Amino acid sequence: MTDQYDVIVLGAGPAGYVAAIRCAQLGLKTACVEKWLNKSEKPALGGTCLNVGCIPSKALLEATELYHEAKHGFEELGITCSDIKLDVPKMIARKDKIVAELTGGIEALFKANGIDWLVGAGTVLADKNVRVTAHDGSASNHTAKNIIIATGSVPIELPITPLHSDIVVDSAGALDWEAVPGKVCVIGAGIIGLELGSVWRRLGSEVVLLEAMDSFLPMVDAQIAKDAMRTFTKQGLDIQLSARVTGSTVNGKKVTVSYQNSDGEQSMEVDKLIVAVGRRAFVHDVLTDDAGVGLDERGLIHVNNSCETNVPGIYAIGDVVRGPMLAHKGSEEGVMVAEIIAGETSSVNYDVMPNVIYTHPEVAWVGKTEEQLKAEGVDYQAGTFPFAASGRAKAKGDTGGMVKVLRDKKTDRMLGAHVIGPSASELLGQSVLAMEFDATIEDIAHTIHAHPTLSEAMHEAALSADGRAIHIANRKPR
Ligand code: FAD
Ligand code: AMP
Repeated sequence: MTDQYDVIVLGAGPAGYVAAIRCAQLGLKTACVEKWLNKSEKPALGGTCLNVGCIPSKALLEATELYHEAKHGFEELGITCSDIKLDVPKMIARKDKIVAELTGGIEALFKANGIDWLVGAGTVLADKNVRVTAHDGSASNHTAKNIIIATGSVPIELPITPLHSDIVVDSAGALDWEAVPGKVCVIGAGIIGLELGSVWRRLGSEVVLLEAMDSFLPMVDAQIAKDAMRTFTKQGLDIQLSARVTGSTVNGKKVTVSYQNSDGEQSMEVDKLIVAVGRRAFVHDVLTDDAGVGLDERGLIHVNNSCETNVPGIYAIGDVVRGPMLAHKGSEEGVMVAEIIAGETSSVNYDVMPNVIYTHPEVAWVGKTEEQLKAEGVDYQAGTFPFAASGRAKAKGDTGGMVKVLRDKKTDRMLGAHVIGPSASELLGQSVLAMEFDATIEDIAHTIHAHPTLSEAMHEAALSADGRAIHIANRKPR
């Protein structure tokens, strides 16, 4: 069967499904090809983010944080809990239920918007033809005026540490253990490694993170990263830098990990090994040579600022193209491309991209770090405000961390905001908005922040960047 669509989207992750919905909203006849099979081997929408990424990891991070708080933090609040019990299978089942509800929600949105879900794997052929191979092996052909490739990314596998049942796992496997392992090793102390390490640490595992690089979270503002390292270490995460994993051997129910550090060859025996060394774009079997779509030197689909490939009318968005591998980045690209296809003007402001690490405390940032501003020779001032001086943080009993704001000394514009602390992900929102609106520190100073809220810390940090903070004695900006 051949049918003609205005748009065929390949992949229904946060990039692809958002693109498909926006296309349909704009009156375009839209189909979305998606091949994902969930844990029950049923076709599912939502991609990595909803099935094995953002959402399930946050479901476990929320649950484990509460468990840890109840066990170790309630006493200080005057609440004595005895007999706190952990039911890991129930925690995992709750996570799976959230995933099922959200992925089912996307299916309902597709129906409501009249989007055809073509179940199977899509391959782009010549002349904007798409072949869809269903899970039973049958194939169908479809044509479109425009194609959006949103096939996302998959975990990078290390040939030296091959995955092995539930013992050596990737990030998806680490979301499904039904018992708390005694000792867990995580390869890679990046965002995903830290989030997954935190989940199992809070439930009682001994967790060691082996990181090949000699610096910790190099993309994070150094002052914040230093605070994060100190805090995570205090929580019992054993983060070892300059430790390059060289291999692993499974022996029965244990795995021996070998690695090199400054003292030479090392090894350790653990119950579980998580390989969290990053993700790579997924283009396998997506493109044929006849499609003519070019890749860049890193194997990502090459696109321009409008996410159009070298073939007019074929676009690519999300993890499969340059830029940070973040769900919201892909979604915004999906909206932009849909609007461009519909003849509207649209763009993505890549300079104002929020980033979050959902540990506790959370780490969140937008814009430039102090190190980047120094390297660029920008005349800036930094203002910080510690949560220890926030009334609300004190009331919550969660006073670790700080807010840091960077301002342009000449224009007073906000150049970056960095938060480590309670609800940093939510707190960052106002800075993202401020930067999107090109706000000055003066604008933020004039904005009334409710008292007592954590957001006052952002207000005070902004004031501090101008030497005007009220609730700290040393109000001089740097
Ligand atoms: P994906 O979500 O990977 O979706 C691509 C889809 O394309 C998949 O469903 C795949 O089955 C499908 N596909 C591939 N090839 C074909 C084909 N040939 N035909 C049909 N379909 C195909 N990001 C955040 O912003 N915040 C977070 O908190 C966060 N947490 C994360 C936690 C973990 C553990 C992981 C692994 C990732 C996390 N991420 C997070 C990253 C985020 O999941 C990705 O950036 C995001 O999913 C990318 O969206 P995408 O639509 O480009 O690709
Ligand atoms: P991210 O890309 O943020 O998910 O982080 C992945 C991390 O894994 C990076 O910081 C890499 O330096 C690290 N990494 C990659 N390979 C190895 C290895 N063999 N041993 C230890 N760390 C590694």
